[in-house]
Amino acid sequence: MTESPLPSVARLAPSPTGAQHLGNARTYLLAFWCARANGATLLLRIEDIDSPRVKSWATAQAIDDLKWLGIDWDHGPDVGGPHAPYIQTERAQLYHDALTRLIESGHVYPCTCTRRDIETAASAPHLGDEGPIYPGTCANWRLGDPVPEAGTCCWRFRSRLDPLNFVDRCAGEKSCIPKTELGDFPITRKTGEAAYQLAVVVDDSAMGVTQVVRGDDLLPSAFRQLELYAAFGWTPPSFTHVPLVVGTDGRRLAKRHGDTRLSHLRDSGVEAINIAKWAAISAGFDGEAVRREKSLDQLHATIIKQFDWRRLPRAPVVVDDGTLAS
Ligand code: GLU
Ligand code: ZN
Repeated sequence: MTESPLPSVARLAPSPTGAQHLGNARTYLLAFWCARANGATLLLRIEDIDSPRVKSWATAQAIDDLKWLGIDWDHGPDVGGPHAPYIQTERAQLYHDALTRLIESGHVYPCTCTRRDIETAASAPHLGDEGPIYPGTCANWRLGDPVPEAGTCCWRFRSRLDPLNFVDRCAGEKSCIPKTELGDFPITRKTGEAAYQLAVVVDDSAMGVTQVVRGDDLLPSAFRQLELYAAFGWTPPSFTHVPLVVGTDGRRLAKRHGDTRLSHLRDSGVEAINIAKWAAISAGFDGEAVRREKSLDQLHATIIKQFDWRRLPRAPVVVDDGTLAS
């Protein structure tokens, strides 16, 4: 007897830490097209646990931006669903329970280091924009040892020393030695809130997510998340990390490249269909067929019919002033 495959579930997971821009739009459109092409259930989850950076207006605006782009979802904070709530700050108990499991299984230890301590630790090498690798200062803690006072420590996951590999549907074969290349990583903040790595794994698992499509700035996080899946004994989703959108200087889209916030583009008269056309053409779709489409819904339908990851160029996508001019 063959087992029936798991139903496909995909997600959009915006962080309401600011306005969504053109780069986010492209990633969400790709995730949407891929989900619909696979017949996956698509859910919207608001990742608002990064409290100091969260903006009160940004959730509603992200939802407006997505709807404006013609993206729809089956479950989410606005429509409900079987795994509600779909807002991370309302899911704290789940993260807390997961943390307890990791403490009891010896996968984590409390860390009282400040960012400064880590930066000044003599042997901490630097790793791109991810900051220094944690030098292991607090790693000798063992279950049963006293736990520092609440508010003074985060919990850090003990990364493994043996290599970890996975095949990304866009970025290809990926391999790393988590302990030396990424270091032990925090799964909570000193405030006690869950950190991104823990929340995303607990939620993707609880919500039955089978495919993750997101920007390739999160590739290193995929290794950390795979470590968490292994520690919990959960099945990980497939990962598809899509290249980021960059400016003509090759740097990740940011304020210095002009105002690419979707809300601003919308207010200045740019039409959503032109953003979707640009995203489609940059993702390797037939430019002629895409340009011919007159309605946003029809454009989405055409793209979803031909959607194929193999078309997607693996290089970053460059935008300049003329990108949306046509
Ligand atoms: N909330 C994250 C972000 O907006 C995405 C996390 C994920 O897709 O795993 O960058
Ligand atoms: Zn420490």
